[in-house]
Amino acid sequence: MIAPDVLARFEATTGFMPTDEGTALHAAALRAAPGAWLEIGTYCGKSTVLLSDAARRAGARLITLDHHHGSEENQPGWEWHDESLVDAESGRLDTLRHFRPVLDENADVLSAVVADTRLIAQWWATPLTLLFLDGNHTEATAQHDYAEFARHLVHGGLLIVHDVFPDPADGGQAPWNVVRRAVAEGFEELSVHGSLRVLRRGVPAQRDLDPGEDSQRR
Ligand code: MG
Repeated sequence: MIAPDVLARFEATTGFMPTDEGTALHAAALRAAPGAWLEIGTYCGKSTVLLSDAARRAGARLITLDHHHGSEENQPGWEWHDESLVDAESGRLDTLRHFRPVLDENADVLSAVVADTRLIAQWWATPLTLLFLDGNHTEATAQHDYAEFARHLVHGGLLIVHDVFPDPADGGQAPWNVVRRAVAEGFEELSVHGSLRVLRRGVPAQRDLDPGEDSQRR
């Protein structure tokens, strides 16, 4: 259950996640192990509100990563553009100042990394127990973010992907392609709620953990 004040904060924060998917995200995150959780695609911090609450309850620490200038579909002239998020001084979309209250309210468990995922992938080395992919939805970047960050998930770690639409009529295909790739690479699908998919990195079979049959044959 999400506390009423947390749910109210979620609903008051600008973003694209419906409440029922947010509830599913929160419930899934509560099942993740403590450790480092990474959210890719902060925007104004709507889902970050719920992940921070779950992290606090699970004894985890959440890092949220975004360059805060919006994705292609958020730019002027595109379908998901919000004029109110344009910074008057720079003339650029700027979600960072809108996200700041969420960061301050959750500073006990939440850190923000403000940069392009391609830069962060060059030095990221922390094992993850939860990865939430909700960043740029172009094929190249969605695949990059999966490839570069899912490899840091520990065995049994949760991979959660937003905006997954198997039917092209419902939305872009990049997140769906990421889910199919993850399954092909051994991730197990745990649940589907709307466009939210929860997967788990498989635990290696016992034979993969053994020192090797060779040593037993000696
Ligand atoms: Mg999303």
